[in-house]
Amino acid sequence: MGNPGDIAERIAILPPLREVIAAHGLSARKGLGQNFLLDLNLTGKIARIAGAIHDGTVIEVGPGPGGLTRGLLSEGAGRVVAIEKDPRCIEALAPLIEASGGRLDVITADALETDIEALGPAPRRIVANLPYNVATPLLIGWLKRAEAVDRLVLMFQREVAERIVAAPGTEAYGRLAVLTGWRAHARIAMTLPPRAFTPPPKVESAVVEIEPRHPPPGDCDIADLERVTAAAFGQRRKMLRGALKSLTKNPAGLLAAADIDPTTRAETLPIEAFVRLARAWRAEMGRG
Ligand code: SAM
Repeated sequence: MGNPGDIAERIAILPPLREVIAAHGLSARKGLGQNFLLDLNLTGKIARIAGAIHDGTVIEVGPGPGGLTRGLLSEGAGRVVAIEKDPRCIEALAPLIEASGGRLDVITADALETDIEALGPAPRRIVANLPYNVATPLLIGWLKRAEAVDRLVLMFQREVAERIVAAPGTEAYGRLAVLTGWRAHARIAMTLPPRAFTPPPKVESAVVEIEPRHPPPGDCDIADLERVTAAAFGQRRKMLRGALKSLTKNPAGLLAAADIDPTTRAETLPIEAFVRLARAWRAEMGRG
């Protein structure tokens, strides 16, 4: 296994990413959410947000031609496991695998169906410029396994990033903010204009840094939290006593059990109150 300085030097002399894309015919496929980052200063900056990447396992989803992967390895990642659905990219990544001196493995798979714990030992960090068409289901899947992850550094469309970090009482506050905020601390670390990508997407993007809380505050099942937030935000402007009719025959009783004012609206309800609601609902369902 090479030392980090040698690896960074070997990576620095690899062909530029534009040449890799041309040589391997990696025309961007919209269905796979392919908007590539070719500026290595930028990918290095994203890699640094991941923090201490020298030990444990860095999991990258969708390395594509390898811009962010180069950044991670040049910044000293001890072990990177990259999951890529597009088989065209695998051949394009061969010189980077070689230059990594055993620190990079690329797996051809669908990240939605990949068990992150099986990819390598903790501490695990997930770092990715996500394919936007599956970014939200990927995030929710990882939040369900948050005990196995130390940090996530993820690129989303800016509008989705704002929904992830939103505070109660704001327009963007909803299910994503509650599910993420219950299980982790999240902040927007960087925003990027469309021109940072090739091809440029239609919208702005943002990198979100998500740090799971170990253990999560308030004991509740994320599946219950998903269910109650779906009902509450399904009709976000209604008072909860009305909005929760899709969840229970007796919304007033459920809200009383959770110590929530029945005239409150979902958009102003803090995360701790959603946790109480999820627990009260579980108890009402006779599973508590
Ligand atoms: N990391 C590269 C970069 O920053 O230039 C590429 C990022 S691009 C936005 C998303 C990548 O995810 C593409 O390479 C795409 O083929 C891959 N991808 C799309 N859906 C995937 C899935 N379900 N599982 C794994 N990779 C996927």
